Amino acid sequence: MPGFADRLNGIGISASAAMTDKASALKAEGMKIISLSSGEPDFPTPGHVVDAAIAAARAGDTKYPPQDGKPALKKAVQAKFQRENHLDYALNEILVANGAKQIIYDAMMATINPGDEVVLPTPSWISYADIARLAGASIVSVPCPAEGGFRLSAAALEAAITPRTKWLVLNFPGNPTGACCPRADMEAIAAVLLKHPQVWIMTDDIYEHLIYDGFTFCTIAEVEPRLKERVLTVNGVSKAYAMTGWRVGYCGGPRALIAAMNNMQGQSTSGINTLAQAAAVAALNGPQDFLKDRATEYQARRDLVVSLLNAIPGVQCHTPQGAFYVYPDISGCMGKTSAGGRLIATDADFVMALLEEQQVASVQGAAYGMSPFFRISYATDTDTLREGCRRIAAFVDGLK
Ligand code: PLP
Repeated sequence: MPGFADRLNGIGISASAAMTDKASALKAEGMKIISLSSGEPDFPTPGHVVDAAIAAARAGDTKYPPQDGKPALKKAVQAKFQRENHLDYALNEILVANGAKQIIYDAMMATINPGDEVVLPTPSWISYADIARLAGASIVSVPCPAEGGFRLSAAALEAAITPRTKWLVLNFPGNPTGACCPRADMEAIAAVLLKHPQVWIMTDDIYEHLIYDGFTFCTIAEVEPRLKERVLTVNGVSKAYAMTGWRVGYCGGPRALIAAMNNMQGQSTSGINTLAQAAAVAALNGPQDFLKDRATEYQARRDLVVSLLNAIPGVQCHTPQGAFYVYPDISGCMGKTSAGGRLIATDADFVMALLEEQQVASVQGAAYGMSPFFRISYATDTDTLREGCRRIAAFVDGLK
């Protein structure tokens, strides 16, 4: 058989996608799986958003779009950045892509040379490291321990930056921990970054609207305008508007970076689906009040899951202030044997045995760079969450 590219060495299907696929396969065999592995809202896409896509199709909006995004969507993104983040981006400082993921891919592929370093506050979303490696970078992890609420400390960041640092990636509220970054922390991070002009800063704000307990979201270009010429502000409609399948992400950044990313994007897609772009315009320009109602609902689910998990001896769950994930510490379960006779030596063993013995799908912390933990997504209804936590409790109770 002809061979494959070396750049793919060590890059596989993401652990969350692998777990979701395994859970779907078991479901298809007739097993009753409680699926807590997928990071996707269970709410439907709002009706007015769907209507906008249908209207666009009927109106004949079906030709190749401009590669960097349709003007109507770029204007909606521009207005969103002004309205919600107090950031002014010209239209040529905005790019639309097939999801925030493609924005991140474009940015790293357009800037990274072999030997460059990408600094990742860890635990972090799986794709940052994989995309950076595909682009030829090495990863420098900055541990953000549970005791500090998984927050990034300025001192730890300072220690991680070298002359080879090309990017720092910020993601607050974050996947997989739900950690948020208070303004004072962001100011301290910005003060460090002002000293290192070789570093691009990517802030992935995709969970911006999922914040709890009255937390106030901030983004780095707004907190420190002197950094704006090095900041790529990334966002998308997937999580806030329950539009994961529409595949629309966007960003604002300095003109030269956006131009380079657009150049990269032009060789992987001839623009973004026009009907999805019409839907994203409706999402960004339409009513926003329901975002608060959904956040209230997620907060209630978070409270439920955190309290049920913390009632399990051997499991310690930090209370996050954002996103829709919890990341419990399961060090108390390591080295034990499950009721089904499986040795639990790692968090990967834990989630696999949990799936096979109690049919609960979750994701091992190893996938996000910090063990022994596991990630649960609570973007599902409360009956499912209660049943999932009951099964986790039964599983842990059976460990000897
Ligand atoms: N960024 C983070 C932190 C995510 O968790 C995800 C999806 O899980 C994405 C980006 C992907 O967003 P999109 O659906 O816009 O590609």
